[in-house]
Amino acid sequence: MPELPEVEITRRRIEPLLVGRKIERVDTTADSYFFITPTRPLKRALAGRTTSALERRGKYLVAALDDGRRLLLHLGMTGQLFSSAAASVRLLSATARASLAPEEQRRFEPDAHTHLCLHFADGGEQVFFRDVRKFGKVQLIEPGEPNERIDRLGPDALEATGDLLFAASRKRKVAAKALLLDQTVLAGTGNIYADEALFLAGVRPGRRAARLTRRDCDALAEGLVRVLRRSIETGGSSISDYVAPDGSDGAYQDERRVYARTGEPCRACGTPIKRRVIAQRSSHYCPACQR
Ligand SMILES: [Zn+2]
Repeated sequence: MPELPEVEITRRRIEPLLVGRKIERVDTTADSYFFITPTRPLKRALAGRTTSALERRGKYLVAALDDGRRLLLHLGMTGQLFSSAAASVRLLSATARASLAPEEQRRFEPDAHTHLCLHFADGGEQVFFRDVRKFGKVQLIEPGEPNERIDRLGPDALEATGDLLFAASRKRKVAAKALLLDQTVLAGTGNIYADEALFLAGVRPGRRAARLTRRDCDALAEGLVRVLRRSIETGGSSISDYVAPDGSDGAYQDERRVYARTGEPCRACGTPIKRRVIAQRSSHYCPACQR
């Protein structure tokens, strides 16, 4: 599932393809829960508009349009936002992949999972929003209209501080892991980076948030910012279906210390990594390094 780094990488790569370019026409798949705004008004609203900025709020992307409306894009579990120049066989199904000669594995043509296709007036590269599992979302937000998805989000996880975590943890009965995943506390953290930050801070995911010390909170904030920045630098994690917008695979997965390494030796002490379900999510930790 794309988390903050993957969404931020997508934002950085898609921004120059959207900003300043006039949308001529929009193709979509049929109306479904993917489109919070039904496709007809969506297509009508987007045609002729120019994007003035592409921002990230937690794991959401928000395109500011020149008429004051905003377009909310959520990648969900398997969403991919990329240009028609993307080159990756990972964008295709296994069957489609197998039937391609190597020299054909280059250009992507919209398929049944390509729910949104933006054509531009300049006739250049199109922008596609493809989502195989269809947990993604597209919504048009009117000027000044409140939005339950983004209005409730806390500060960005890249801005995490020990002060903020310490204050938020005092009132909570939840586990430290759940605190990090709470999007109203910090926006953008998901399962992978929460586990990695907890390891760096030496805190077990199941420890009660209210029992975190001020020092733990400083270490957690520092660890979180560090893993998020590092993942952005290395192109994100491509565990499961995440593919960077240019079709390349992220490299961060090679640096994981605990996430999805159950039974493998801790890179610091050699103790096998444990897995435990906390707040309905798998948590991975080293029983020796984390207390
Ligand atoms: Zn260890």
